[in-house]
Amino acid sequence: MIKNILSLSIALLSLTVCAQDALTSKLYETYEQFKETSLDKRRIKHQDIQPLIQQFSGNPKFEVRKVGESIEGRDLHLISIGSGSENIFLWSQMHGDEPTATQAIFDILHFLDAPDFKEEKDVILSKLKLHFLPMVNPDGAEVFQRRNALGIDINRDALRLQSPEGQTLKHIRDSLDASFGFNLHDQSKYYNAELTNKPATISYLDTAYNYEKDINEIRANAMKVIVYMNNIIQNYAPGQVGRYSDDFEPRAFGDNIAKWGTSLILIESGGYTNDPEKQEIRKLNYVSILSALYTIAKGTYKDIPVENYEKIPHNDRKLFDLKIENVTYELLGKDYILDLGIFRHEVDLKGNDEFYYKGTIGDQGDLSTFYGYETFDASGYKIVPPKLVTADNIGKPLEFLKNGVAYVKTNLPENAAHLETPLQLVHENFKPKPFGLQPGVNPTFFLEKDGKLTHAVINGFLLDLSKPIEGQNFENGLIYR
Ligand SMILES: [Zn+2]
Repeated sequence: MIKNILSLSIALLSLTVCAQDALTSKLYETYEQFKETSLDKRRIKHQDIQPLIQQFSGNPKFEVRKVGESIEGRDLHLISIGSGSENIFLWSQMHGDEPTATQAIFDILHFLDAPDFKEEKDVILSKLKLHFLPMVNPDGAEVFQRRNALGIDINRDALRLQSPEGQTLKHIRDSLDASFGFNLHDQSKYYNAELTNKPATISYLDTAYNYEKDINEIRANAMKVIVYMNNIIQNYAPGQVGRYSDDFEPRAFGDNIAKWGTSLILIESGGYTNDPEKQEIRKLNYVSILSALYTIAKGTYKDIPVENYEKIPHNDRKLFDLKIENVTYELLGKDYILDLGIFRHEVDLKGNDEFYYKGTIGDQGDLSTFYGYETFDASGYKIVPPKLVTADNIGKPLEFLKNGVAYVKTNLPENAAHLETPLQLVHENFKPKPFGLQPGVNPTFFLEKDGKLTHAVINGFLLDLSKPIEGQNFENGLIYR
């Protein structure tokens, strides 16, 4: 009998979950209808979201209030919608270079404004009142940096409250006393789901409220909603969800807001293959947050076993952009076998609107516990140091590469630090350092097999020399002055 009741309740639970899965797949499929297309690059600034905020402030469905200002005087706005008695508070980009959820918030606002999905939205907006505070750190966003204009991390200012941005966040939190809070961030693209080569595209955390990491009902509710969101994201990014570290940080907002009585859900947007502007990840935020709001409004999350939270893999940080395995490297007349872990870091251009890549060797040696977004098995291949030549122009880059030339001494374009051609340009007075592989150096060299050059690595990008350059994964070389 007990067994029958149990299986019946499991069947009912899976029925409700199925019904909601239908909603979420519709959310995913119809996303483009609601996407705010003006925000399609990560380097968004305060001025980019002002016309959108204006648009919602003229819309009777929304309440828009100025709730504060940044240190440099940029307005912070709270956008609210719904008539429910339960407040939900969502804030994004307290770290200025973490914009993915800010973009998703505007997609969600368009969704809430549109006539579609009426039944589901009636449920959400009659039960809940939603409050969005997008881009908490506009001064940081202006220069695409984590910290605010004071040079502090707003997420370590929840107790001292020196930053006006932090004061605003605290004030809104106190005035709403929300049941659920969504603390929306980006994390490094080098995080993976533990013991797998899958990036942690989305990571969740039911933020702890004390060092002991106790689980009270408030925290358990966050865990249940996270289990729900994870099940959904698994459909679109299988294996690409991680659990963020739950170490208690007494100075952080999430931890304190959890302590002050809100079920606190941290969402971190990580990396996704071939998605440098994180637009697919933004879409996953949209689906994830809207489906969470739906299960909160319906109360269905309460039936989810809290233990399932533990089944989500931990975050780890074991990814490189490019991993070259088992390559032969000759040093002082002897051959050694190495793995190379290569990062391609972003360097902002003036104005912080665009960037170029600068490669570095992150680690070398036995990297068998690490993974790459791109992996090349170089068993039987040997590293060949690059040559430097002087030339009037770089007309046929593949010819240089096939001859083992990576550095060209030539007339340099003014003011540029990078070029789209797969070569490294140098000034006429440039003195090359002796070639050597060490962590921190720019990875530029060739690979040889059976005495023939087969591949070039230029600024951390791997090129197959038997193929045309077009269509290969290459972004930019560097210019050394
Ligand atoms: Zn952050």
